[in-house]
Amino acid sequence: MQELAGNLFIISAPSGAGKSSLIQALLKRHHDMQVSVSHTTRAPRPGELNGVHYHFISVDEFKALIANNEFFEWAEVFGNYYGTSKSTIRDSLNQGIDVFLDIDWQGARQIKKQEPSAKGIFILPPSLSELEQRLNNRGQDSSEVIAKRMAQAQSEMSHAGEYEYLIINDNFDTALAEFERIVLAQRNGFGSQACKHKALLTQLLAKTAN
Ligand code: 5GP
Repeated sequence: MQELAGNLFIISAPSGAGKSSLIQALLKRHHDMQVSVSHTTRAPRPGELNGVHYHFISVDEFKALIANNEFFEWAEVFGNYYGTSKSTIRDSLNQGIDVFLDIDWQGARQIKKQEPSAKGIFILPPSLSELEQRLNNRGQDSSEVIAKRMAQAQSEMSHAGEYEYLIINDNFDTALAEFERIVLAQRNGFGSQACKHKALLTQLLAKTAN
């Protein structure tokens, strides 16, 4: 993918850092941004809808999508498969829509290899104890799952240095403002602007003899 009008953002965080809430809050403010809906083999949590939060599919279906080369990236996370399909992302970026990939560090590495202009944003909680409290407050997972995710959180967070941007989600509104600034600033990157204003730049930046 090259010369795309929209920007591609990889958003990673340990479970409980507030990633989904931040993405949803930003999408409410901007209608020219969207989050990619991943495929997963994990079971839906209460309130999660097929096609909205994830495309929930079986392991066999997931493996068929891998075999058909349908994924931009995929990874095994917490014992389940997760993957980003290629189809919708390209169309959205071509239309000038910024796309968020809510994926883990393994997926981030694969995306960066294929699309180096993608920008990575890592979201951290203000402390380990706050993270644990947030996971408990969710009430969606068993204590066994929470303990497992706390251990996984440390491993996920150890990859924060591989991302271009870091947000500490202590105060939600502050974190949201930081997130918004990063995304909006990226829109003024030369590549993105050149794509959106091709005719104007051709006219204004015409080559001269010197
Ligand atoms: P959850 O099961 O809590 O929704 O997600 C668990 C982890 O899987 C999160 O870190 C999330 O970012 C990651 N994840 C969700 N979708 C994808 C995907 O399509 N690809 C990859 N690599 N990770 C994903």
